[in-house]
Formats: sequence, C-alpha cells, structure tokens
Amino acid sequence: MASDDVFSEKLRVPEALTFDDVLLRPKESRVEPDDADMRTRVSTNVTLSVPVLSAAMDTVTEAELAVEMARQGGMGVLHRNMSVEETAEGVEEVKRADELIIRDVVTASPEQTVREVDRMMEREGVSGAPVVDEDDAVLGIISGTDIRPYLEVGEYDAVREAMTDEVITASEDVTPRAALELMYEHRIERVPIVDDENRLTGLVTMAGVLARREYDDAARDDDGALVVGVAVGPFETDRARAADEAGADVVFIDCAHAHNLDVIDSAREIEAEIDADVVVGNVGTAEAAEAVVGFADGIKVGIGPGSICTTRIVSGAGMPQITAVAEVADVADRHGVPVIADGGIRYSGDAIKAIAAGADAVMLGSYFAGTDEAPGRIVTMNGKRYKQYRGMGSVGAMNDGGGDRYLKDEAEDEEFVPEGVEAATPYKGPLSSELHQLVGGMQSGMGYVGAETIPEFKERSEFVRVSSAGQTESHAHDVVITDEAPNYSPDN
Ligand code: 5GP
Repeated sequence: MASDDVFSEKLRVPEALTFDDVLLRPKESRVEPDDADMRTRVSTNVTLSVPVLSAAMDTVTEAELAVEMARQGGMGVLHRNMSVEETAEGVEEVKRADELIIRDVVTASPEQTVREVDRMMEREGVSGAPVVDEDDAVLGIISGTDIRPYLEVGEYDAVREAMTDEVITASEDVTPRAALELMYEHRIERVPIVDDENRLTGLVTMAGVLARREYDDAARDDDGALVVGVAVGPFETDRARAADEAGADVVFIDCAHAHNLDVIDSAREIEAEIDADVVVGNVGTAEAAEAVVGFADGIKVGIGPGSICTTRIVSGAGMPQITAVAEVADVADRHGVPVIADGGIRYSGDAIKAIAAGADAVMLGSYFAGTDEAPGRIVTMNGKRYKQYRGMGSVGAMNDGGGDRYLKDEAEDEEFVPEGVEAATPYKGPLSSELHQLVGGMQSGMGYVGAETIPEFKERSEFVRVSSAGQTESHAHDVVITDEAPNYSPDN
C-alpha cells in the first residue's frame, strides 16, 4: 500500500510535533551567547528581562517565588488555590518587596515615651522611625541608636527630647543614587520623603537601596516595583478585580481549555473591566487563537504537555507543544499579541525551541517546583531530597479549590475526574541558579542560530526534524555519568 493510502478519510490526519521531534538548525553567527539580549514582551504592556514565567500552581508560585522570579528578570504567576484576600496580599507582598520608597512607614509621635517607641520599633521590625505631628509634617527622626541603651535619655522621656531634629529629607523624585549619596554624606541610614509642605509621603532606607542594586536586571513596573502575574479562574471576576486593584501587572485566565465559548465570553468581560493586561489560556490551535486574539493581551499555549498532566491520556485530546505554539503564533503575530508556551519544558533546549516555534516567553512548573522559594518542605526518600509537585488538576489540588480550571464543579461528595497527578521533584536549591542555567542554555541556542534578540531569533531560527536515532544521539550515550551536570539529567 502506498504510504498516503488510507482506509478511511478520517485517518488522513496531519502530524503534530513536540520538543524532541525537532532541533534548531545551526547557522552562521557572530553572537556570543552572553551577548544575547533576552528581553521580551509577555503581554501587550509588560516587558521582562528574561522570557521566563513560573507556573500558577500551588506547589510552585506564591509571593516568595514570584519576588525572586521578578528580581531575576522574569515573572511569577500566583496560583489561585487561596482566598481572594490572600491573592491581593500576595500581589502586595511582591510589589512591596524591593520598593525604593517604602509607603507603609512606621512613624512615631513627639509625645510618645522613648520606651513606647523602642517597643514599637522592635514589634514592627524597624530600627528607626520618622517623628511626625498630626498632619504628618516631619519633626524629626528617631533611631534605636539614639535611645538605646538609655544613656542620655530616660525611658520615660518624650520622643521630642530624644529625636534628631535636623532631618535630611528628599522629595518623591529622588533617584536611588541620589538617596545613597545623601545617606553617605550625612552618615544616616534612612531618608524621609516629603511633599512641598514637608509632609511625610514615604521613606528610603540604605538596606532598600542596596538590595535593589543587587538586581539591576529585575523586571519592574513603571514605579520601579517588581512585576507579578495572577491566575484567576475563568469565571472569577472578583479575584481578577482584587488582583488588579492590588497592582497585578498581568491577570491570567487560567483554564485547561480556553476555546470553550463560555470561558471566552467571561474572559472578554474581565478584560474590559480591569486595567491589568489579560492573558488568555490555555489554547493549542489556530482556531482558538483566532477566537481570543481580538481582545487578549497575550495568549498562553499548552493542552496537555505538562509533566504532571494526564489530560491527553484521560481525555484523549491535546496538541503536541511545538505544533501548538507554532499554530497559535502564526495567528498572534499578525495581531502583535505575545504568546507564552506553557508546560512540557524539561531542559533549556526545550525552552528555546518553544521560542523558535513562535513563543515570546515560556512558563515552567516542574523546573521550579524543587527550588527553595517554592512552597512546601523538603522530604527525603531513599537518601535523596525532594519537594512536592502536583498538577492543579490532581485530586489533591482540586480538593483545595480550582477544579474550574478543568471546567468541573467543585462537588463535595462527587469524585473528581483528575487530569493531573501528585508527585515529587528533586530538590534543587535556590531559584536564581536554576534560572541562570535555563537562561544561559537559551542564550547558547541563540548563539548557534546567530540571533542577538528574541524577535531576531524568532525570525531567523529554523527547525530540522529528528529521527528517533537522532534523539538517542542527542542525549548523553554510551557512558556512565559520574558527576551530575547542573543543567542535565537523563531521567527528565
Ligand atoms: P511543567 O512545566 O511541569 O511541564 O508544566 C506546567 C504546566 O502544566 C502548568 O503551567 C499548567 O499549564 C499545566 N498544568 C498544571 N497542572 C496540571 C494538571 O493537573 N493537568 C494538566 N492538564 N495540566 C496541568
């Protein structure tokens, strides 16, 4: 029988490819990997320094990991197995993390006793406080060293007696450098920020400025705060509103099948109502992309590629990820809407292949679940350390909320039909070194293709199709690995 003969038209089917089916064709290059610029747009209005997001999963992204992701130039997407209030608190925690001007300033009043202020500072975990009157005008500043160990002032003296009243202040437009210079010049550790009438509007501290300096490639919003994304259920307008009000940069409509028309209607309404960008997902076909590209600020791709995901096995539906990304990107590119490839990325090579297929950024779950910053504790099994990692469609995660991702009711007494498993992933240490390996490998891919920027790489990269013999050749073979590499494990 000739190869294109089929018994039924139904079997005349297109082929879909995934990561291992393809490799990047090496090309002439003058690009050193370290020089590859990884900046990308993740949604219409949000740019990251590195094209990487952490998954909205309850064993991956809470505020702690989101802070670290943004400091390293990417973005964390907070999961939604928590109350709406907790979502808002999570966003606020990320936004406050590296702020130059602290807004929530602990202040003292001139009439308080030294002892009261000392206790208050200890309780609040600060070592100094501006002294303000009832109109918030700055009268002085008091620090632990002014009053402890009560050598020159009595415990019951008024703060007015003990404070420094020649206060060095700055205005709202102070830069980190100018603030630091003021602090060095006057040997002080904090500078109150005041308006034209000397009223306190914030505080800059030495520790805050130095912490920000460590992260000069951090992904920040226009006010200099770290960026953060939030996942909301397809019909969770209240969570979307709360995230938006708390300052989230991007709201992700978090659904396993966003080509469901009710989901699209709801996503459109949410997009119209909030200021934050709205990324719609997940989708896996050109038709789905067409259905959302008119209103979405970004499109997230992935039907069943995830490491803990059993959607394709349970439902029989899915799209291998390289084909899915390429189909969606063909549509999204025409409208200038960014695409995020979500799930199935085991190695840095997979991540850069996803970009070559047309994604602007990638989202990973299992890759980050074993890091220190991910929620959950380390467990030891057979002498090896692991952290818990579970699918949001696993029984455990759905019992904790979020079954609507799979468009399933949260029925108390009914058994869920899961589309994910509960698992463990090797413990990996700090997120910064994992991300460093991931981004470094992606930059190598750009070097092999000769592209200096992500848009150029998307344009210039070409795939070759790999046979199964070629796949075997790609992995370490015919050797026994004696030392673990930081970026490769054959069991991934
Ligand atoms: P990973 O990086 O571990 O391969 O994939 C993470 C992605 O898998 C998530 O961002 C999310 O899109 C998807 N995902 C998370 N939990 C589940 C699940 O239980 N079932 C399915 N089908 N996908 C999941």
